[in-house]
Amino acid sequence: GTKTKGLGIALVGLGGYAGGQLAPALLETEHCYLASIVTGTKEKESVWAKKYNIKKENIYNYDNFDAIANNNDIDIVYVVLPNSMHAEFTIRAAKAGKHVICEKPMATSVEDCKKMIAACKDAGKMLSIGYRLHFDPFHDEIMRIGQNKVYGEMNVASEFSFMLKDPKRWRTQKDLAGGGPLMDLGIYALQGSIYSFGELPTSLWAKNTTIDTSFFKDIEGSLEWELTFPSGKSYCKTSYEKPIYAELKHNTEKGEVKLENAFYYGGLKGSTPDGKMEIKPVNQQAQQMDAFALNIIENTPSIVPGEMGLRDNYLIEKIYESADDNSKIIQ
Ligand code: NDP
Repeated sequence: GTKTKGLGIALVGLGGYAGGQLAPALLETEHCYLASIVTGTKEKESVWAKKYNIKKENIYNYDNFDAIANNNDIDIVYVVLPNSMHAEFTIRAAKAGKHVICEKPMATSVEDCKKMIAACKDAGKMLSIGYRLHFDPFHDEIMRIGQNKVYGEMNVASEFSFMLKDPKRWRTQKDLAGGGPLMDLGIYALQGSIYSFGELPTSLWAKNTTIDTSFFKDIEGSLEWELTFPSGKSYCKTSYEKPIYAELKHNTEKGEVKLENAFYYGGLKGSTPDGKMEIKPVNQQAQQMDAFALNIIENTPSIVPGEMGLRDNYLIEKIYESADDNSKIIQ
């Protein structure tokens, strides 16, 4: 039967992530459900409507999107579009009087992030970023271990890479992606570093390590950077030119704390100097969306607010600045 429990979510942009992860997760959520879809592809309308039982009047496109203002079935707009479109649709959603979840990276510039935060504030609506790993128990454990120095002083090492050399994909087009793997994948290594220490970096240094410079011209193909925190350093890598790999590691006084498959939707494996982490996996996206629905229902702040997205976009800009001229940047 139709599931209409809790707050209604409108997914904007029915691509790989919306279709592969978010819509299925919305069948598992308790406090929100898929009420509406917004798509620029006519053929997706009937396919999605049938599969997820979406009412005809809850189907929108990018032109008539603003009419959601008059639709009480929609409480939350979830923006799952290419990066450079996040700002426009977050602002339009706020103006239509809806709460917003915006995918990572929040935007392609710090300036846009500020406009998005202001639009939601002006509308009296909440804004959160799709940082699903803050709702994953393996990452909770990493935060606990790092922030409490359970195994003593440490440095962090993190990488998220995969192979993507397709000029037809928006991810390799600067106008839509805003940047390369740093914006898309490296952001997880950056986040992982910050929540491992529970601190903000005081300086950073970055290097463009692109292999195929004839393909990767407008965006980086590979990048490495180093962050200095008050209590340690983090060494990060990201690439669109390497086999898929995702790791978050603490090199501590007592040995290694390691998350393998660290940034995937599932299959995470964790170990510490004491042995394997015995943790039951969860559906990250279902947890994330339910948490935001509860924030709205209970009027509590999101743990992944727009301000966190702004912070990360700011650091990403600094990393690019440093990579451009190999300079060390002091915050
Ligand atoms: P896809 O390319 O698979 O889907 C993007 C969708 O956006 C398209 O299917 C299309 O939907 C719509 N769209 C509108 N205009 C354009 C355009 N000019 N070019 C391409 N697509 C357009 O991307 P993803 O789903 O992988 O990524 C979408 C967003 O989600 C990104 O910001 C990405 O960073 C983020 N993401 C987050 C993940 C996470 O784990 N948190 C994982 C994957 C992605 P339609 O046909 O309905 O109009």
